[in-house]
Amino acid sequence: MSAETTTTERPSYILTRAEVTAVERVSPNFVRVTFGGEDLSDFGTPGAVFDARIKLIFPAASGALPPLDDEGDDWWGAFLAVPEGERGSMRTYSIRELRVTDPSGGSGVPRTEVDVDFVLHLEPGLTGPASRWASAAAVGQELFLVGPRRDVVDHGGVEYAPRKAASVILAGDETAAPAIARILGDAPRDLRGVAFIEVPSAADVLPIDVPAGVEVRWLPRAAGQLHGLELIPAVLGHLGDEDAADAVEVEDIDSEDPLWETPEHSGLRDEITAVDAPAERYFWIAGESGVVTTLRRHLVKDLGIDRSQVAFMGYWRRGVAMRG
Ligand SMILES: Cc1cc2nc3c(=O)[nH]c(=O)nc-3n(C[C@H](O)[C@H](O)[C@H](O)COP(=O)(O)OP(=O)(O)OC[C@H]3O[C@@H](n4cnc5c(N)ncnc54)[C@H](O)[C@@H]3O)c2cc1C
Repeated sequence: MSAETTTTERPSYILTRAEVTAVERVSPNFVRVTFGGEDLSDFGTPGAVFDARIKLIFPAASGALPPLDDEGDDWWGAFLAVPEGERGSMRTYSIRELRVTDPSGGSGVPRTEVDVDFVLHLEPGLTGPASRWASAAAVGQELFLVGPRRDVVDHGGVEYAPRKAASVILAGDETAAPAIARILGDAPRDLRGVAFIEVPSAADVLPIDVPAGVEVRWLPRAAGQLHGLELIPAVLGHLGDEDAADAVEVEDIDSEDPLWETPEHSGLRDEITAVDAPAERYFWIAGESGVVTTLRRHLVKDLGIDRSQVAFMGYWRRGVAMRG
């Protein structure tokens, strides 16, 4: 996680207990878990949340959470220092909604609540600790949450950066749906563009708050259809690359780590050049790493779109358990 502005010497990130205060099965493949509790009051980012990411730490096989204290910015070191069998699992999630209220009317400690929309992928061999935990989440359970510390980090963990682009193209699968929904909810009401969201089924199309000038195209998959086979042709067809849209083959980078290429960071170690003139159009693309890699190849290599206009983010990788 990178901190964009640090206003004091206090640590930028907080590792804190987060208590489940509500669980709602919002659709066949999404469960919305609300986290709250006293310890969360120091967490949060002022202003727009956009695609801010948080880390969640799930219990070890024993069912117990690891013995962790808030170590400030060395949350990763603190996590790794726990013996493997007790460590549990860390995974990355988006903030679907952040609510900060002050029941005392300004004099007391604010109450913070965070909604996270978990995709349920529970098929044997295709599931993991986060999805399994979410499928059985219950009020009163606890996880650890790592995220920006209130009043210290502005835009902590946010990648969405359209600068002055006149329009945006957002594209992602179900794991990116919560971030896309939050981006559109927080975006200026005069934003223009198109959002492509591939979901496991038509019943997973969720109500979201969208600026009037943004068209949202939900792309439900057929049962058993591979990720990307709706998303890739839809995005390429929209950009006029009909040939590629007709013959989609999902590829991947030869690495355990998902692709992460943003205007500021290149996981492929490409040279990054500072761009002065803001791009007319900004692309934000996230989801299964092979799908994002395929879109990147078409956009950058075939359509000549400057990589400084695009954030390409592998949110997960088929067949690979994430490590944090
Ligand atoms: C910045 C960021 C934000 C994210 N936001 C969200 C979010 O808001 N909601 C959300 O649900 N996910 C989100 N993800 C994706 C999530 O972190 C991964 O899906 C993660 O792998 C889930 O952990 P797990 O323990 O369930 O599975 P893992 O133990 O990591 O993986 C086990 C197996 O499950 C497969 N797998 C993982 N995810 C999926 C999936 N979605 N569908 C099918 N198979 C899968 C893997 O390929 C692997 O074979 C985000 C990821 C990033 C990087």
